[in-house]
Amino acid sequence: HAKELGRNTYQYYSGSMNAMALERLTLENNLRWALKRNEFRLCYQPQLDAASGRVVGMEALLSWHRPGCDVVPPDDFIPLAEETGLIASIGEWVLWNACAQAVTWLHEGLPPVRVAVNLSSLQFRSRRLAELVRKVLRATGLPPSHLELEITEGVFMSNEEDAAVVIRDLKKMGVRFSVDDFGTGYSSLSRLSRFPLDALKIDRSFVRDISADPAAAGLTAAIIAMARNLGLNVIAEGVETHEQFAFLRANGCAEVQGFLFSQPLNPDAAAAFLRARSR
Ligand code: C2E
Ligand code: MG
Ligand code: MG
Ligand code: MG
Repeated sequence: HAKELGRNTYQYYSGSMNAMALERLTLENNLRWALKRNEFRLCYQPQLDAASGRVVGMEALLSWHRPGCDVVPPDDFIPLAEETGLIASIGEWVLWNACAQAVTWLHEGLPPVRVAVNLSSLQFRSRRLAELVRKVLRATGLPPSHLELEITEGVFMSNEEDAAVVIRDLKKMGVRFSVDDFGTGYSSLSRLSRFPLDALKIDRSFVRDISADPAAAGLTAAIIAMARNLGLNVIAEGVETHEQFAFLRANGCAEVQGFLFSQPLNPDAAAAFLRARSR
């Protein structure tokens, strides 16, 4: 009897492992087709000036709308896109779309704001990135200073030399750079200060703990002070409460982003927000 049970257990596990492998394969296969089938969408989350409440930027956030499935958030498919190399073409699509959207808003007479685009550190493996950005800016007509590229500390860790070349090329064009999720990686501010960066985005894990954890509050205040001394703009992400916002403002954080102000919005809703909140 025990032997039989053991065999069933074995079959159960091997069956579920096959199911997982199959699931992954299906996902990968669907991801390959998602671009051609036009299943990606960008939403835009407003970034506000902390003092005036005016919108100064819109961060483009990607999601995948698989027919017959729930919307897939980026954290559930970007890693697979990176493993398979699909991130290159997906990242290209994001850049084209976000820049074209920003130009559409300009043409509609909406107040000019930066559009922020997240880049995978893998996109820095190719020196073609600068060429691509140049091509997109030229074709869409977006002024380079309206584009902010969000990179993570990972970019500086893996291939510092290549990254430095790409960042300098893009800076010469007038594109802006911010470091996303700052504080979660291992890079020091002194290391980052060697790169021509424009802004630091304080990771939302710090912001979340501001009210409950004095250490998090102290760290957040210190990051803001040091970034300002380096001449960097500071954006706090994941601001959800008035208390967090008050703390950030009191400590000199220039810009804020989070559910307290707005969820990520579809392009029409983002345009309406811009119209209402920019005067
Ligand atoms: P991120 O760049 O740090 O983006 C901010 C994430 O925090 C977004 O999640 C946003 O919806 C969420 N968020 C904003 N405000 C709040 C808040 O007040 N509270 C909480 N709890 N969350 C908030 P999302 O859209 O799921 O994106 C997750 C990550 O996926 C992004 O983190 C970014 O690293 C990556 N990602 C998104 N779009 C792209 C893309 O086009 N390309 C690449 N390579 N990565 C992307
Ligand atoms: Mg980001
Ligand atoms: Mg972030
Ligand atoms: Mg992130």
